[in-house]
Amino acid sequence: MNKNLQGKVALVMGGTRGIGAAIVERLAREGASVAFTYAASAGTAQDLEATITASGGRALAIQADSGDAEAVRGAVAQAAAHFGRLDILVNNAGILRLAPMEDFPLEDFDRMVDVNVRGLFVAAQAAVKHMGEGGRIISIGSIASVRVAFPTSSVYSMTKGAVAAMVRGMALDLAPRGITVNNVQPGPTETDMNPSDGPHAEAIKGMIPLRRVGRPEEIAGMVAYLAGPEAAFVTGASLTIDGGYTA
Ligand code: NDP
Repeated sequence: MNKNLQGKVALVMGGTRGIGAAIVERLAREGASVAFTYAASAGTAQDLEATITASGGRALAIQADSGDAEAVRGAVAQAAAHFGRLDILVNNAGILRLAPMEDFPLEDFDRMVDVNVRGLFVAAQAAVKHMGEGGRIISIGSIASVRVAFPTSSVYSMTKGAVAAMVRGMALDLAPRGITVNNVQPGPTETDMNPSDGPHAEAIKGMIPLRRVGRPEEIAGMVAYLAGPEAAFVTGASLTIDGGYTA
């Protein structure tokens, strides 16, 4: 594997499981020192840190709830202090709560906005204080911002639409500093959030022209591209990776 990210420091918000863990592993394999946050999975986080360290990489697990602005700012400061700089922020932490709009609990509405939207903004705001020319901010949105294929997901889809719009705005603000801001929009991808034995799994597969869901490693590959030197001219973009789901 190319060591495209040698000497770079990355922070992945929500890096213990699924897409986030695949991103942590991929960025580390490309030579980056990688800090990552988690909300609850302390054991999984320690295991991932140990695995990367054992294979010669540098990793740091940090507990920080993305819904807590102080914790998010603390995680950014800790990552930058520990590794001495910060070049790449990946906003992956996200939650999915589903219910028909008629009785969608407002606590769930607020919690999803806090984690999926506000937490992402707070992390970016804190991270750019440490970034120089060539900095990268990459958010994991969702194809749900484009296509709402199932009922009960109005609020989740709204949060991901907000991510796509916010990324375009932040890209303009940060362009003069040479920092790029992009949004990766996965289609259905096999993780705890979207398990292959879930209630809609067969229906989802039938809606994807390539006849399978995505793998976390495939999403991580697109993130690695955006983090790397070849993507220097990509900013304000939403890149889709969905097996043709929205074609
Ligand atoms: P998972 O539920 O499998 O993993 C979520 C990760 O985010 C975990 O590492 C989790 O940490 C962390 N996390 C969750 N809540 C918080 C929080 N409050 N603070 C900090 N970390 C948190 O999700 P996926 O890997 O499937 O999803 C990752 C991202 O991709 C999300 O933004 C999701 O919306 C998006 N996405 C997923 C798709 C899919 O089909 N799977 C499709 C499109 C987009 P912990 O282990 O501690 O809980």
